[in-house]
Amino acid sequence: MKKYVCMAVMIVLSLINMTNNVFARENNDVQYNNIVQQQTEEKTKESEISKQDYIPVLMYHHFREEEVPAGDGANINIEEFEQHLKALTEAGYTTIFLNDLNHVMKQVQEGKEMGITQPELHMNGKYIVITIDDGYRSNYELAYPLLKKYNMKACISVITSRIHHGYIYTEKEIDKMSWDNLNEMQQSGLIEIFSHTYDHKPVENRVYEDVRSSVTKGEEMLDKELEVRSPVNVLTYPNGSYTKNMTVLMRTYMGYDLQLTTNSGVVNRDTSILEIPRITVNSGWSGEQLLQKIEQTAQKTFQKE
Ligand SMILES: [Zn+2]
Repeated sequence: MKKYVCMAVMIVLSLINMTNNVFARENNDVQYNNIVQQQTEEKTKESEISKQDYIPVLMYHHFREEEVPAGDGANINIEEFEQHLKALTEAGYTTIFLNDLNHVMKQVQEGKEMGITQPELHMNGKYIVITIDDGYRSNYELAYPLLKKYNMKACISVITSRIHHGYIYTEKEIDKMSWDNLNEMQQSGLIEIFSHTYDHKPVENRVYEDVRSSVTKGEEMLDKELEVRSPVNVLTYPNGSYTKNMTVLMRTYMGYDLQLTTNSGVVNRDTSILEIPRITVNSGWSGEQLLQKIEQTAQKTFQKE
């Protein structure tokens, strides 16, 4: 008898539950339709130009106090860097982190899944990402004070095996930062730190297991040495060397949200998060020239599509 009472109670409970679910689903549908309708209305208000919204991602490496011959894509005179920061600020750009860019790209993807061709997102906010590769000491000593002065953000991808606990000067290579430098910069809220792999070996022509090993080692060192890790997983390919196949493996098995390349272009609604393009900043560019290069790169990006 007890058994039947029990069963009856269970049936009644599950009926109540089902009814609630139906209500919840209907509510969700109504909410969803409202959002879609709202976004469609906003969308039609936007001009056609908004299809070409974009976020430029700049790429720097090493900064020097002495003059650098024009056209160098890896060395920039620090005064030129300051001109770039000034020009970007005056042009109304706001620097964002790669974590923010990932957030924007997620919105774009979700919008596409909902059938919205132009989702409401921050692609049109005149945002820019400054990335700096390798982890040279000049990032801390020369670039960081300027980033603080202009209150601008940057994302640094370090070769983790070259980062140290004390300054070791070797004739062979330009000195890199220490873990203390990186932690101090991250604490300022202006710098995000990511992996440029453990050993900086080009990825192309290497088997997955080998790449996975240097990528895993890189992440393990960042986990161990950094006091804070960014919520976004970013891999910056050494020398921009990668294969499409590797980007899929890195996404699927290593969970990378964004993968940075050296392909020229600006990030827009059609950009793949597996291959984020960047603009290599060359020495000799004035602030005005940098702004022009950004616009030219954007034009080329949209011409290709
Ligand atoms: Zn590099």
